[in-house]
Amino acid sequence: MTRDELFFKQKNILETADEQLLGRIQDFAEGYKTYLDKSRTERLAVREAVKLAEAKGFRPWEPGKTHVPGEKLYFVNREKGLTLAVIGKKGLGEGANIAAAHVDNPRLDLKPYPLYESDELAFFKTHYYGGIKKYHWVVTPLALVGVVVRADGSKVEVSIGLEKGEPRFVINDLLIHLSGDQLKKPAADVIPGEGLNILLASRPDPEEGSDRVKLTVLKFLNEKYGITEADFLSAELSAVPADEVTDIGFDRSMIGGFGHDDRVCTYAELMAILDMEAPEKTAVCLLVDKEEIGSEGTTGMLAMSFDRFMEDLCRSQGVSLRECFAHSFCLSADVCNAYDPGFPEVSEKRNNAKVNYGVGIFKYTGSRGKSGSSDASAEVVGRIRKLLNDAGVVWQMGELGKVDQGGGGTVAKYTAQRDIDTIDAGVPVLSMHAPFEVIAKADLYMSYLAVKAVYEEK
Ligand code: MN
Ligand code: MN
Repeated sequence: MTRDELFFKQKNILETADEQLLGRIQDFAEGYKTYLDKSRTERLAVREAVKLAEAKGFRPWEPGKTHVPGEKLYFVNREKGLTLAVIGKKGLGEGANIAAAHVDNPRLDLKPYPLYESDELAFFKTHYYGGIKKYHWVVTPLALVGVVVRADGSKVEVSIGLEKGEPRFVINDLLIHLSGDQLKKPAADVIPGEGLNILLASRPDPEEGSDRVKLTVLKFLNEKYGITEADFLSAELSAVPADEVTDIGFDRSMIGGFGHDDRVCTYAELMAILDMEAPEKTAVCLLVDKEEIGSEGTTGMLAMSFDRFMEDLCRSQGVSLRECFAHSFCLSADVCNAYDPGFPEVSEKRNNAKVNYGVGIFKYTGSRGKSGSSDASAEVVGRIRKLLNDAGVVWQMGELGKVDQGGGGTVAKYTAQRDIDTIDAGVPVLSMHAPFEVIAKADLYMSYLAVKAVYEEK
C-alpha cells in the first residue's frame, strides 16, 4: 500500500468541492435560513415543518388504518413534537430507518406570576429553560412568543417582536462606569438567575392608583390578546432573541442565528424525508421536544408517543413493535461543538469536530468517562461509516471537548434503550447554546445528505 493509502487524512469541504457542489450548499442554506427564522420555539418549529410536509403530500396519521409503500404520514404530538414516516417496500419486521432531532432549545420562559412594577418600570420575571450562560441574555433584543390558555379554556397565541416594526424587549445590564464590583464576580454570578427580568414598559396609565405602568402592560395585553394577569398562570410564554438569521463572513460560508441547536438537524432530517418516495425500509423522521431539560414529559423522547405511532404502523403489518425496533437503525441527529481556535484549551484537537469538515459522527457523548452515553458499538459505527462513504457524504468523527472538561448528552440513549442501534451525528456549532450560534453551510448540507443516505439504505 502507498503512504497515502495508509494515512488517514481529512479535507476541508470548501477546498475540495466543485462549483456545482458549492452552489448546492449555498442554495440549501437559503431554505434553512427561512425555516430557522420562523421557528423560534418548538411549537413554531413543528408548525413550519408540517406546512413543508403537507406541501410534499404528507397526510395526518390516523390510528387503525393500513398503509401502502410510499404512503407519507405525519403525527403531531401536542403541537410540540412531530413524527413523519414514509412507508417502505419492506415490512417493518425488517426494521425502520429513523433519524431523531429535537425542536426545543435554550430560552427564557416567563414565571407563573411574571409581571411586576418597580420604580415606575414594568418587568417580566423569567426562569431559564436549558443550559445558558446568563450574561448572554442581557442587552440583546428579545421577542415574546407562546400561548396563553384563558380562564374559559380558550387558547390565544402571542407573538410580539419578530415582525418588522413591532416593539422588542430587553434585559438591562449594569453600565461599565459602575461595574467595579460586578466585574469581580465569577462569570456564572455576574447576572444571577433572578436578575433575568425583562423590561416591558415605562408609561404610567392615566388611571389613578398603584402600579400604573403594570396597568399599561395589562391593558395592552387585554386589548390585543383578551387576557388578564391571572391568565399567565396557564401560559407558556418565552422570550427569544429577536434578531433575524443572517449569513456570516465575507464569503457567506456560515450562518448566524438563534436555535441552530437543534433546528439545523431538524431541517436536515425534514428535507431528507420530504425527498423520499418509496424507500426500501420505512423512513421515520422524529422531531422531539424537551431534549434540553432531559427529554422528560409527554413531548420528550422518554415519552411513549413515538412508540404509539410506530406500534400502530407495526400492527397494520402484523409485526410486533419490539421486532421492528430490534432491526431498526437510528441517527440521533443533534449538533456538536465545533473546534474554536479562540478556546483551544477545552478540546483535544485531534478528536474534535471542525467547521467545514462535514457532518460530525459521535460514537459517544456523556461526561466523566462517557457516563450517560449509549456509546455506539464498532459495528454500528462501521455501518454508518460505510453508508456515508458509499453515498459520498463528507463526515468526521468528533468528541465533545477533552476528557473530563465537561460534556453533554442527546436523545441517542433513549432510542438505544428501545433496542434500536443508534449513533449520534450532527452539525458542528460555534457558540453553542448562546442566543446567536454559528454553523457552516457545508456541514448543514452534508448532514442532510447523511440523513438521506440512512433513509435510502437498502
Ligand atoms: Mn441539541
Ligand atoms: Mn443543546
